[in-house]
Amino acid sequence: RIVVVGSLNADLTIYCDRLPLPGETLHGHGFAVNPGGKSANQAVAASKLGGRVSLVGAIGDDPNGTMLLDSTAHAGVDVSRVRRAADAATGVAIISVDAAGENSIIISAGANGTLAPADVDAAVDLFDDAAVACLCLEVGLDTVMAAAQAARNAGATVLLNLSPYAEVPQALVRLSDVLLVNAHEASLFLGKEAIPGTDFDAAEWEPLRKQFADRGLQRVLVTLGAHGSVVLDSNAAGAQPITFIAPTKVAAVDTTGAGDAFTGAVAVRLAAGESLAEAAAFASVAAALATTKKGTQAAYPDAAEVRLVRSS
Ligand code: ADP
Repeated sequence: RIVVVGSLNADLTIYCDRLPLPGETLHGHGFAVNPGGKSANQAVAASKLGGRVSLVGAIGDDPNGTMLLDSTAHAGVDVSRVRRAADAATGVAIISVDAAGENSIIISAGANGTLAPADVDAAVDLFDDAAVACLCLEVGLDTVMAAAQAARNAGATVLLNLSPYAEVPQALVRLSDVLLVNAHEASLFLGKEAIPGTDFDAAEWEPLRKQFADRGLQRVLVTLGAHGSVVLDSNAAGAQPITFIAPTKVAAVDTTGAGDAFTGAVAVRLAAGESLAEAAAFASVAAALATTKKGTQAAYPDAAEVRLVRSS
């Protein structure tokens, strides 16, 4: 089983030619309300790819909450531990997507902010047969810590998506078996102005691998958007510690949730016993396919679609 602990948001998306500047009003088009939230997305991605997934989260007693329950359950996710908060609205994300598929996002936590260590305690039985726990930072750090600890106690692999970026206590870093970050989050975490450029050169990544390892992180995935991703696996038995995963070439129309598709796919493949590099290669195809359609969850592929692309 994969246990995802975290956020569910209603995504309020407007498409526009370019993203607005401060103080500017633009005409957009194609307004849509869709199910989202990093954790709900990751759970749906993992379930569609064949994982047995349980989601622990909180929604409001409102239509957005019902939409989210329906979408995650429809994708096969066990939502029995998604709590309806009586006194908070379902979380919301305001999203702008430009003509190149680039996005900018503001989130309001709402009910996600009520998710507490007590919710993790109430779901502790789920961790007993969990292979992977999938965590992100759209819910409170105390809740993320509680989930990481519950997963560690049960012997599950803790996959931490350090997003949206926040400084986290070293205790959480120590509980994380795999860290998953995009380029921006990687540079913030390491305190570097930039991470290596688009032409992959393993020698340029070696100092980063060492810096992560010095912070106790032996296994790290850095996603680079359309440029692919890099696997840093200081424990890789008999394999190379730094692996570049080339991007799958697609015509991207909406990259919203690509990182979540990647994360959910990594969770599924790690749960199936694959190495980090194998899981990332699979996830790279799943995430690329997710960018070829508008929206997030509805755009996520199933395992057969990923296999088809990988074999072509
Ligand atoms: P996030 O959405 O969290 O910012 P990225 O933008 O790094 O994450 O994207 C995550 C992964 O999704 C990438 O590593 C890549 O595998 C895939 N991806 C994203 N954008 C594209 C694209 N335009 N073409 C192909 N793959 C993409």
